[in-house]
Amino acid sequence: MAIERTFSMIKPDATKRNLTGAITKVFEDNGLRVVASKRVWMSKREAEGFYAVHKERPFFGELVEGMTSGPTVVQVLEGENAILKNREIMGATNPANADEGTIRKMFALSIGENSVHGSDAPETAAQEIKYWFADTEIVG
Ligand code: ADP
Ligand code: MG
Repeated sequence: MAIERTFSMIKPDATKRNLTGAITKVFEDNGLRVVASKRVWMSKREAEGFYAVHKERPFFGELVEGMTSGPTVVQVLEGENAILKNREIMGATNPANADEGTIRKMFALSIGENSVHGSDAPETAAQEIKYWFADTEIVG
């Protein structure tokens, strides 16, 4: 296994409920390190660009609306096998299917308001980190 970096977001449904610290603690307790972090209120254009892969899906409008409804904390997480590990810590997309102890099981409200985003592969991790961070903002 190698040390990897992945991209994570604490979504507006969670920042609105003041869960930034609680969610970050779950990452840290599971061996991931926050090597970049900032709070942004993304524009419609930024949300549509970030989620462009989903633009034909029926929930795209709802997704963009949710992501622009309040602040998001964008982060880079580093650790052993960070991409897969983060997906495990997050839990299933639909909180109804998420395992006990996962962030989505503990905090998500619904499949749309599911509190966190995490990259799903090395290519998307690299792409998503670059979408939100300059190299100089990432300090390992
Ligand atoms: P994940 O975030 O687990 O990688 P996807 O990439 O499939 O899940 O979807 C991106 C995001 O779109 C989800 O996190 C969720 O916020 C939203 N989403 C996915 N499926 C639905 C759905 N059926 N209804 C509403 N929102 C959805
Ligand atoms: Mg996804």
